[in-house]
Amino acid sequence: MRRGSNLPAVGTYNQTLVLDLIRRSPAGVSRIELAERTGLSAQTLSNVARKLVDEGMIVEGAPIIAGKGKPRTPLRLNPQARYALGIHLDPAVDTFVLADMNGAVVAHAEHAPRPAPDAARLLPDLAERANALLDRAGIHRDRVLGIGVAAPGPIDLDRGMLLQPPLLPAWHHVPLREELRSATGLPVMVEKDVVAAMVGELWVDTEQRLTEAIFFYFGAGVGVGLATDATPVRGRTGNAGDVAHIVVEPDGPLCQCGRRGCLGVALAPERLVADAAGDSSERPPSESRAMLGRLAQAATKGDTVAAEVFERAAAALARGLVVLNNLLDADVVVIGGPIWNRIAPAVEPALRKALVRSQEITTTRGISLYGTRLSTDVAALGAACLVLDGAFTARPAGLMITPS
Ligand SMILES: [Zn+2]
Repeated sequence: MRRGSNLPAVGTYNQTLVLDLIRRSPAGVSRIELAERTGLSAQTLSNVARKLVDEGMIVEGAPIIAGKGKPRTPLRLNPQARYALGIHLDPAVDTFVLADMNGAVVAHAEHAPRPAPDAARLLPDLAERANALLDRAGIHRDRVLGIGVAAPGPIDLDRGMLLQPPLLPAWHHVPLREELRSATGLPVMVEKDVVAAMVGELWVDTEQRLTEAIFFYFGAGVGVGLATDATPVRGRTGNAGDVAHIVVEPDGPLCQCGRRGCLGVALAPERLVADAAGDSSERPPSESRAMLGRLAQAATKGDTVAAEVFERAAAALARGLVVLNNLLDADVVVIGGPIWNRIAPAVEPALRKALVRSQEITTTRGISLYGTRLSTDVAALGAACLVLDGAFTARPAGLMITPS
C-alpha cells in the first residue's frame, strides 16, 4: 500500500493517490475509507476530495445510511473528465484510439501505412489522423491530456524517437515526439509497444492481480512487458523486454542471429503460415495476418494440419514463458497483441496444457494465464493509458508528463 503525506508541498501527489484509489473502486469509496487507506488526515483528505470534485475528476454519489454513524458518501471517478489519445505504429497497420479515464475506447481508427513511405509526409499524416480522430469524437482539446505513441523497439526514450525498429525503416531517427507535439499542440510520450501494453493492463487492473506480471506481446514481433510491485519495468533506456532470441526449438528455423529456433522466428506469423502451406514464400505482413486468421478458424473447426501448426506454436510459446517466469517468479502471464487476437482460440487451450505439463517450471504456484483486457489494439490503448498513467498514477519516482 502506498501511503500519502500530509506535507502541503506534495498536494499533487496526494491528489493522484486519492484519485487512483477512487478510480480502482468502481462501486465508490467514502472519505473515511480513503483516509484509512491513505493515512491522510481527515482534513487533508477532505481538501483533496473537494479539489477533485471541483475539477470534475470525481463525482459524489447519494449518501448511504448504514447503522448509526454519519451517512457515507461514495466518491466515484468521472471517466469523461479527461481523455488520452493512443497511437500504435505497426508494420501492418497504424491504430489510433481515444480512451477515457477508465481506459475505455471512445473513438478508434485504423490506417494502412503508405506502401512507399515518404519521410516528409510521415509526421503530417500522423498528426492529421490524430487531429481527425479528436474532431470526430467531438471532445474538447482541454480535456485531452496528450498523445501516447507505442512502437516496436529500439526507441530513444529521452529524445522520444524510434531508433532502428527493423520493420519500420521510414521512422528511424524521426524526431517523433517533438514534431507531433508541435503539429497537434498536445504533449506526446513515446514508448516501446510492449511497455505501453503493460502500462495499459496495469491501468485497467482494478483488482490488482498484476502486481507481479509478464505481458507477452504477440504482434509483428514478440516481446514482453514486465510489472513488478504494480509498476511497469522499462529498464535503463526504455527498451526492456526483448525475448526474441530465447531458444525454444533447437531444430527450428534459422534466426537472423545465426541460431535455430529462437522464440521470435518460431512464432513469426510468416513461419506459421508457411508451415501450414508447406512452402517458404515471402508474404507481406498484412497478408500473413489475414491468412493466419483463416488458419486459426480452420484449426478450431478440426483441420488437423492447421491444428498441428498452432500446437507447435503453443509448445514453443510455453517453453519461452516458463523460462521467463522461472527468472521472474511472477506467476501471472497476460497475452495480447494483433497476432494473438487472431489466433487465441486456436492456441490458448494447447498453451494452457503445455504450461501445466512443463517439466522445467520451478514456480510452486503454476502460471495463471489471462487474455488481455484491453479491448482493441493493446499497444494503442496502452499508449493512451501511458498518458493517463503519467498524469494520474501516484508513483513518487514515476513518469510524469513534462511540457518538453
Ligand atoms: Zn535469434
